[in-house]
Amino acid sequence: MAEYIWLDGEKVPEIRGKTKILEIKENEKLDEFKASTWGFDGSSTMQAEGHNSDCVLEPVRTYYDPIRNTGNEEFPHLLVLNEVMLPNGKPHSSNTRFGLKHIAERHQAEKFWFGIEQEYTLFQGDRPFGFPKEGFPDPQGRYYCGVGAGKAIGRQIIEEHMRACLEAKLLFAGINAEVMPGQWEYQIGTGDPLKVADDLIVARYLMERIAEEQGVSVSLAPKPCPGDWNGAGAHTNFSTKKMREFGGFDAVIEKLRERHQEHIAVYGQGIEERLTGKHETCPYTEFRSGVSDRGASIRIPWQCERERKGYLEDRRPCANMDPYVVLGKIMETVGEP
Ligand code: ADP
Ligand code: MN
Ligand code: MN
Ligand code: MN
Repeated sequence: MAEYIWLDGEKVPEIRGKTKILEIKENEKLDEFKASTWGFDGSSTMQAEGHNSDCVLEPVRTYYDPIRNTGNEEFPHLLVLNEVMLPNGKPHSSNTRFGLKHIAERHQAEKFWFGIEQEYTLFQGDRPFGFPKEGFPDPQGRYYCGVGAGKAIGRQIIEEHMRACLEAKLLFAGINAEVMPGQWEYQIGTGDPLKVADDLIVARYLMERIAEEQGVSVSLAPKPCPGDWNGAGAHTNFSTKKMREFGGFDAVIEKLRERHQEHIAVYGQGIEERLTGKHETCPYTEFRSGVSDRGASIRIPWQCERERKGYLEDRRPCANMDPYVVLGKIMETVGEP
């Protein structure tokens, strides 16, 4: 069983998936295996008109499927990540990965690395997971990295998701419970841009699938609950070989400052609701950098300030951002012209 997954044409793209039963040749090995192209009805995914509906799935990376495999398979069930193409061989307008591939190629010599902190909020019906039927839970304070019933809400799903990500061999760096109840984070990275962006899409897919089995949904909304509750971001940590070896943070930060609004425009739908200046954010209308400053747009981690080299954290991207767009934008701004 191969689960072909791709991003649809919604304003905030969602993951779609369907299964293809593959025929495996005798003695075929997983690392030599190449999934074949496939197609789908783009008129049902906001990617085509009904009278000309065929879209093409072009496999770009294959993973071990941690949900379907039991461990005893002769040839493992697979997750197949795809780019969406038009029948004429050109990339579909929703295919942002195609763009990142070319940007990454252009900036290959600079050896960019990324690490993304994906925050998200579990929901049951229209209420965040762990919120009472009426009214609100205790205010924020004890939930972040919380331990114990009433503080760490949904841990079973989170643990299962982490195990699945590791089995799929994603670049997975860790997890923590977040500030708002029912809100969590996992980190994907550190690695090269295409691998990190692809792995984030697969990690999002696995989270949806695992939560789905418990009747829980996953929200990537940047401000899932109005009021005095933290929003959900996707802090994007990045470095070049030069930054890792020599630092030079000031010049990098200046480049980001000059293009602040351009970045805000592609850092996720609803960013104004989250970057308000409250709840560990800098207002979207301002640009600030600072050491250990969680109210900054760009945070210099204290170890990197001390060693005067390493990486920077862009705190602006929202949980619902498109990693292909965000990583491409950072490379184009920060990279050599
Ligand atoms: P925070 O203190 O902001 O919560 P986390 O521990 O959640 O930080 O995440 C740190 C992130 O930084 C990880 O995703 C990791 O992959 C990334 N990271 C670490 N070193 C580098 C580096 N040299 N270049 C790019 N990203 C890095
Ligand atoms: Mn974090
Ligand atoms: Mn966080
Ligand atoms: Mn962070």
